Amino acid sequence: MLRRLWQSAMIGLARSSSLKGWIQKNRTAAAMMQRYVAGGTAKDAVATARDLAAKGISVSLFYLGEYVETREGIDEAVREKLSAIKALSEAGLDIHVSVDPTQIGLGVSSDLMTENARVIGKALANAARGPGRHCLMLDMEDHTTVDATLALHDDLAADGVPVAVTMQAYLKRTEADLAARIRPGGMVRLVKGAFVAGPEIAHVGNAAIKENSRRLIDLMLSEKARDRGFYPVIATHDDRLQAYAIERAEANGWALDAYEFEMLFGVRTKLAETLAASGHRIRLYTPFGRDWWPYGIRRIGENPASLPLLVRSVVSG
Ligand code: FAD
Repeated sequence: MLRRLWQSAMIGLARSSSLKGWIQKNRTAAAMMQRYVAGGTAKDAVATARDLAAKGISVSLFYLGEYVETREGIDEAVREKLSAIKALSEAGLDIHVSVDPTQIGLGVSSDLMTENARVIGKALANAARGPGRHCLMLDMEDHTTVDATLALHDDLAADGVPVAVTMQAYLKRTEADLAARIRPGGMVRLVKGAFVAGPEIAHVGNAAIKENSRRLIDLMLSEKARDRGFYPVIATHDDRLQAYAIERAEANGWALDAYEFEMLFGVRTKLAETLAASGHRIRLYTPFGRDWWPYGIRRIGENPASLPLLVRSVVSG
């Protein structure tokens, strides 16, 4: 109950455009968010990606911005995704970008989203001719967007775009959605879910969500999924869930390069480095851009200990 209230409050803050406009001008608050954001441009983010690559850590670049509703904002997001692809390609790194469906047009129409996703997918497929891994990763937003996001994923995959999709353990439907993408040997990133919903459609409370995460990891790292060439991405900072995934992977004969972990840039960095040092594939979701408030407040929501620091910086800045 408390978790739901807290998360709802954070989602409300993330979507408040007047608060966003005001706080993003605050230099102290912006400096505090640098922990989670790798600069204002794709070039800044690629400089960070090079440093991480030296430690054996890969990235997925994300241009900040969600629930974009203007044509101008959508066009800008597409342009920035394309510049991230170009910068990664020039740097000889994995060409891996994350995209929120509402950034590229879902709030306007499914057709606009699909058209933009195809442009990004085509640029990615053209750039990714050399070695390395490449992927257009679709993020998953609130539960009202799941059908459209999965349909987009399936369309792009049928066209041969190297696409993957995020699925959320808090939603009850995920088990069936996941099974349907394991069968053809796709790629899915599993997260707990940054949104809230009622018990009709969602698992409610940390314990229930974690228990479902384990059930979904069982499916993702099963022998059957391995034999189908499915590629699991376990995206969590929860070291117990990571250990559970490693235990399942070892029990079912998964090679270390046949699955990966993903975490957020700036969160539990030592844990990411430890995974890399032990030979595991690890990628950091690495945002760049100036629209940092909705993303940053979600991170604060997951780490309430940093809230007083944010409030102090806003008051003093
Ligand atoms: P938690 O149980 O929240 O955290 C585990 C441990 O990590 C705890 O000790 C906690 O204190 C610490 N920790 C967690 N967050 C922070 C932080 N910000 N700062 C400091 N410590 C922290 N959600 C979606 O709904 N859709 C998406 O598309 C999506 N994409 C994601 C992609 C990646 C790569 C990751 C890692 C997460 C993504 N999420 C997404 C967010 C996810 O759903 C969770 O809300 C978030 O990851 C927190 O859950 P957790 O599994 O990390 O575990």
